[in-house]
Amino acid sequence: MKKSDVVIVGAGSAGCVTARRCAELGLKTLLLDRKPQEEVGQKVCGDEVSKTHFEATGIDYPEGDEISSAILGADVYPPNRKNELQVRGWTEFDGWTVNRLIWGQRLLKDAIDAGVKFLPNIHVAEPVVNSDRVIGVEYKDLESAETVVVSSKIVVDASGFAAVIRNKLESPLIENNIDKEDVALCYREILKLKMPLAEPEVARVFLGGEIAPKGYAWIFPKGVQEVNVGVGITGGEGRGSPKSHCFKFKEQYPLLFGSKVIDGKGGAVPVRRPLKSLVGDGIAFVGDAALQVNPIHGGGIGAGMRAGIILGEVVRGAIAKRDLSAAGLWSYNMRYLPNFGRRLASLEVFKRLLQAVSDEDMNFGFERRLLEAEDLMAANRGDGISLSIVEKMKRVKRGAGRISLLMKLQKAAGLMKKMNKAYSNYPTSPDRLDSWEKSVLSIIESATFK
Ligand SMILES: Cc1cc2nc3c(=O)[nH]c(=O)nc-3n(C[C@H](O)[C@H](O)[C@H](O)COP(=O)(O)OP(=O)(O)OC[C@H]3O[C@@H](n4cnc5c(N)ncnc54)[C@H](O)[C@@H]3O)c2cc1C
Repeated sequence: MKKSDVVIVGAGSAGCVTARRCAELGLKTLLLDRKPQEEVGQKVCGDEVSKTHFEATGIDYPEGDEISSAILGADVYPPNRKNELQVRGWTEFDGWTVNRLIWGQRLLKDAIDAGVKFLPNIHVAEPVVNSDRVIGVEYKDLESAETVVVSSKIVVDASGFAAVIRNKLESPLIENNIDKEDVALCYREILKLKMPLAEPEVARVFLGGEIAPKGYAWIFPKGVQEVNVGVGITGGEGRGSPKSHCFKFKEQYPLLFGSKVIDGKGGAVPVRRPLKSLVGDGIAFVGDAALQVNPIHGGGIGAGMRAGIILGEVVRGAIAKRDLSAAGLWSYNMRYLPNFGRRLASLEVFKRLLQAVSDEDMNFGFERRLLEAEDLMAANRGDGISLSIVEKMKRVKRGAGRISLLMKLQKAAGLMKKMNKAYSNYPTSPDRLDSWEKSVLSIIESATFK
């Protein structure tokens, strides 16, 4: 049996950032991934990441070959593709599309340089549990076919959507049945276009039940003549596959006609609030394994990196205090959930609103500007949608004829506010988690907009 202070399962962006922080703080850190080392970072993704996440974490900006394209704005299209919302000059939106492999290799190198021991070609099978506490993991070395048990003070599950450790743990603190309504199934292609892009630094997002049921389609620039195009849909069966929706979208969008497919693959991403607790006894979760993803657009790179920095510091503190229990790790919940987690949770309400609005109402809303770019940004920041009385009156006038749509907007704004408040009151210890969870679930249950 090998020994470590912390074992991190998964060397995606969240795992690498967590591992690096742990090693920087002097912990003996082991990072495991089933991929060969040269493939770490490779990921089916839209590849877009906002600059704000780097500013919040102190992680170096992507540079050189790590960058595919700068992103300096977005156009959001309603189902009829008229009256699009143009978002420009908003720092929350601006950033880059990255080359996932090259940038992922840099994150791994940063972790190794900080002192992390990395083992590639390792399939982690399950947690090792003793008296309800996680004390290590069992893995298979895919090269030697040897089965190994490694013991550690803390295990971090950073295995992405698969959540290989979380899904094998049973504890009242740990959620492992994620509703399929809360998972976006996606298909994306990297395309070489026939013509250069007119605005090579603008991302495009397309809403509508036909294009992407309960989801959206995207075109993100990857260079002047290359794009990342994809469709994400939620809601389980009966809606067609994301691949078929993506193919249909490509046939309808002239910019994409005659383009050459460089790569095409499917993937999945959770799209709901983060786990109610990011920790258990001897275990913590980060990245997609912790459902740290923006429910509106499925962006999880930044949300996981932010969490990784906090988690590294909390793990260091718990080990120093020799308290490896959920209570000893609780400050990870306290530092993440009422802050960035609050944002993600209130956006789940907004997602539910967007999913319920008909294409016709959506077209009307865009035409009459019932929501402005500023509202979207405020919602994205976690500030909810808060309109002054004068502004409300103006929108009521613009929305005349669709009062029910305005009322849905009003209801969503109220519930987002409630969600913000609930997360600001996240319990300070595990024993109050149940009653807190009930309050959150009651907000989610009210978030119906029929
Ligand atoms: C189609 C699509 C488009 C997206 N677009 C964007 C976007 O534009 N911007 C954005 O911010 N986010 C986007 N996301 C989400 C984003 O990709 C994820 O939130 C983010 O990559 C999660 O990082 P992670 O480190 O948690 O997990 P991952 O990057 O999935 O890393 C998990 C790692 O764990 C390893 N692993 C898994 N199981 C095991 C095991 N049993 N043993 C050992 N290792 C294991 C994997 O090999 C992998 O390296 C998108 C997702 C999809 C599917």
